[in-house]
Amino acid sequence: MEAYAVNAGFFKLDGGAMFGVVPKSIWDSLNPSDENNMCSWALRCLILVDGDRKILIDNGLGDKQDKRFFGYLYMHGDDTLEKSLGRHDFSFDDITDMVLTHLHFDHCGGGIRHNSDRSGYEPVFKNATYWSHSEHWKWATEPNAREKASFLKENILPMQESGNLRFLDDGGTIKETDGIEMLKHASMPGLSFIVVRGHTEAMMLPVFEYRGRTVIYCADLLPSAAHIPVPYVMAYDTRPLVTMNEKVAFLNHAYRNDCVLFFEHDRETECCTLKETPKGIRMDTAMMLKDL
Ligand SMILES: [Zn+2]
Repeated sequence: MEAYAVNAGFFKLDGGAMFGVVPKSIWDSLNPSDENNMCSWALRCLILVDGDRKILIDNGLGDKQDKRFFGYLYMHGDDTLEKSLGRHDFSFDDITDMVLTHLHFDHCGGGIRHNSDRSGYEPVFKNATYWSHSEHWKWATEPNAREKASFLKENILPMQESGNLRFLDDGGTIKETDGIEMLKHASMPGLSFIVVRGHTEAMMLPVFEYRGRTVIYCADLLPSAAHIPVPYVMAYDTRPLVTMNEKVAFLNHAYRNDCVLFFEHDRETECCTLKETPKGIRMDTAMMLKDL
């Protein structure tokens, strides 16, 4: 399996919302904020090449919504998903599988675009199967009041209308290891998926082998390395106590198995290993995926 980090850009989110109950006097030194308390975050996707399969994990924000919407997100830097894929000689049409960890707008917006006459929407990856989790799909398409603003119909429904949508739990097998729900599907032999339910319902964290190491794409369970300490839970999470229990099980499992964590939203740290300290499990060594 080959693996490449592909950054779809940088955006800003409120530091207080990103660090939940952690006070600004602490989080501001971890990710310094601007005059509006906004911190910069990456939209770091991942492409896995497994034989003739080219599997993309998440796809950033896209560009469908209006100026007002993007006015709150302060996109910056030169990276786009198209440019970052191009750097590794991949185009949108090469993607065979589009895996979505969950359907919040900053993870799936780049998968659907306006069609040519702007009368509707179409898949960006026209040769790809779009993979979600059926329980998450139901949750996202019948959204609760708390997450409604994060599940945008135009990002989600066109996947189903295109006929290219499948669910990894449909025909998948579920195994419980170290208190972790692990999903596998015969269509994705090189991957397994940790299913967590604190951030949102049934978010999937892809797990794969790369250069002899087990790498875990942390999605929004640990959006950045600064979120490794257990109480550092985003205010966006629908079930923060569940997230805390999931983080304990996840970190113990990842540390014991010497896994490499891959961060979607950390603008500095792409990957890291873990170590045990008197305060709990913490980052050991930061690294780039390409340097593993
Ligand atoms: Zn999310």
